[in-house]
Amino acid sequence: MRYISTRGGGRPQTFSQVLLSGLAEDGGLMLPETLPRITDADLTAWRGLPYHTLAARVIARFVDDADLPHAELARMTAETYTAQTFGSEAITPLTSIEAFRPGLWLQGLSNGPTLAFKDMAMQLLGRLFEFELGRTGRRLNILGATSGDTGSAAEYAMRGRAGIAVFMLSPAGRMSPFQRAQMYSLTDANIHNIAVEGVFDDCQDIVKAVSNDLEFKARHAIGTVNSINWGRIVAQVVYYVYGYLQATSSNDERVSFAVPSGNFGNILAGHIAREMGVPIERLILATNENNVLAEFFQTGIYRPRASRETFETSSPSMDISKASNFERFVYHLFDGDADRVRALWREVDRGGAFDISATPEFLGLQERFGFVAGTSTHAERIATIRAVHARTGVLIDTHTADGVKVARDLAPAHGKTLVLETALPVKFAAAVREAVGFEPPLTDAQRRMLDLPQHVTTLPPSIERVKAIIASVTAPAAGSSH
Ligand SMILES: *Cc1c(COP(=O)(O)O)cnc(C)c1O
Repeated sequence: MRYISTRGGGRPQTFSQVLLSGLAEDGGLMLPETLPRITDADLTAWRGLPYHTLAARVIARFVDDADLPHAELARMTAETYTAQTFGSEAITPLTSIEAFRPGLWLQGLSNGPTLAFKDMAMQLLGRLFEFELGRTGRRLNILGATSGDTGSAAEYAMRGRAGIAVFMLSPAGRMSPFQRAQMYSLTDANIHNIAVEGVFDDCQDIVKAVSNDLEFKARHAIGTVNSINWGRIVAQVVYYVYGYLQATSSNDERVSFAVPSGNFGNILAGHIAREMGVPIERLILATNENNVLAEFFQTGIYRPRASRETFETSSPSMDISKASNFERFVYHLFDGDADRVRALWREVDRGGAFDISATPEFLGLQERFGFVAGTSTHAERIATIRAVHARTGVLIDTHTADGVKVARDLAPAHGKTLVLETALPVKFAAAVREAVGFEPPLTDAQRRMLDLPQHVTTLPPSIERVKAIIASVTAPAAGSSH
């Protein structure tokens, strides 16, 4: 399995090379040269497999055994996807909300350690990274910026892992109390929380500036685990296959998925599962008020905003200005024509937009790829949380509510639609209270966590101060002088 860039440059790479790198050498994103297939016989053979076995089978299709031994992969998926870590043997349980709208079900992806779907991929990524670094004797210092869910998922995946340290920047005072407690209560020596006196964009700017200092980056082995990471995408493909198998009893049935979307990472995995051959009817993309993706699928115009023009919403993990994985979809839309992708992103990288509304590829998009898209506002997500609770007794969070609202409007009349539950309501208690008049009950462990001492260094937005923290706790990479 060879990986190539969406912009046609650079050398082909293996899975393990792509796993630890960010952007392709030419600024594009890495993708398999050809997608592996999932056949009818595969689906039949896979019915009833436990999640971790299915994960090993699906991910192995993207990895050469000589590159990463499939037996090691199976060991890592078995250690990752346990009832202990994900709350039940089902790992991603289905829950009917058909009393709200016939055909709608939730697929629970938020039962991991940080109560958001990012654990599904990140928990495996921690093991994959540790394995890769271990066998090559390297170290990795993960530098990231978070407005909440990514940072905590990364910290809980990497805590205590050999050869890895995490430096996570968050905007001081801007995350929910629960998100703050989740991250800042960790005491592992390899986890470093840095609160920046500013907004998320200030954190992001610092990460970019540090990463652009190539000498510093190499000397301190700086890497990332952001949503373009290919290991995260393939791990996410698994739950679309598993959800399909859970929701059906025969391969003749088709299932739709509704996906609360931000950086286009989650739904890209659904697109890949569909292209591989999973009988997926529609992929229903839901955005909040930051609707650049809904606009594209409705009009053919992709118009990223300047990051500081992002609206702050009550589904904050979907507050994006541009969708970092979207380029991978456009590469497939244009049948691997890297020249066209490169030309379009020349505009995007300059802060511009593109309009492909008149191309045959866009006009045939919905039929060929199954995508439909819609937007949900604050009032709509609050009303949706309230109505789903009233009619089904199920409490959902604000992000999942965006998915349910758009699925109500765009799900097909027949067959099941699985709305991906991307976080638990307890993470976004204030908005849930606004909807139903009470906050989601805390477990004893959660109440204890909220009371634990918090470990965080608060700084003004200073690149040098962040570099100094990294330099003070990391030994220089082998071969360089300090
Ligand atoms: C990250 C996140 C999303 C958006 O997922 P993308 O892969 O960025 O599209 C949606 N909901 C929640 C709760 C998240 O944490």
